[in-house]
Amino acid sequence: MAEKTELQPASLEAKSPFDLRVDLGKDVPETDVRSALASGDMGFLHSFTTGSTLDGPGVRVVAWTTGCMWRCLYCHNPDTWTMRNGIPVAVVKATETLRKYRYGLRIMSGGFTISGGEPLMQDRFVVKMFRAAKEMGIHTALDTNGYLGERLTDDEIDGIDLVLLDIKAWDDEKHRHLTGREPGPTREFAKRLAARRRPVWLRFVLVPGLTDDPAEVGQIARFAGGLGNVERVDVLPFHQMGRYKWEKLGIEYKLDKVEPPTAEAVERALATFRAEGLKAY
Ligand code: SF4
Repeated sequence: MAEKTELQPASLEAKSPFDLRVDLGKDVPETDVRSALASGDMGFLHSFTTGSTLDGPGVRVVAWTTGCMWRCLYCHNPDTWTMRNGIPVAVVKATETLRKYRYGLRIMSGGFTISGGEPLMQDRFVVKMFRAAKEMGIHTALDTNGYLGERLTDDEIDGIDLVLLDIKAWDDEKHRHLTGREPGPTREFAKRLAARRRPVWLRFVLVPGLTDDPAEVGQIARFAGGLGNVERVDVLPFHQMGRYKWEKLGIEYKLDKVEPPTAEAVERALATFRAEGLKAY
């Protein structure tokens, strides 16, 4: 990236979100955590990464938040589940960091993405960061599972340029098995984004034996195709890159025997989405 500079604090920078990070905010008192969440003046971040071409259009700076209420069986960043595993960062400091990249991001038609964890666990921080980005003329993208979408007002939704929405499964029971939570709130958020005509890129992780049932993929594709605001669908083949984190954190990992999907299986899923008139990659 043309404008790459040292991030402050330096430890906030990571080469990738696959770095394992734990307990970085463990000394922050509970009351401070609560007031930070209420005001959005401070956020908990796993890291900032630069140069991503996978998290929205162009080249992007990505803030990876900590805190997630889901427990996806294939999660490759389980160290982001706990908010206090992140570094506490004042919104002013995070904005300063982002400011250093503003010209480079514009030149590379990129922007600023907030991912996680689940960013909407820290919805006020997200809103403040996106406002600051927009004031700098930076494109904004929110990567979310949508479960807490009701925390955003209509105006706040309208202020986000793009939502990267993760749809994990369709069937209630399968969704609960996969994530620990029901799918309804995510779908409601998807419908709300559609009603407000906000651009959405849908993300779907293809896991053999878990999310590759053709009927299930078909349901998701029909839903996505009917929304009218889904600009693209990314079918993400399951991989094992996050497995070591589960082992290091001492959490039982149930997918160690699962292989990545075959190229044919990925093609089949893509074809299912394309059959609903969607651009799928
Ligand atoms: S929603 Fe994302 S961060 Fe949360 S458990 Fe699932 S994959 Fe992991």
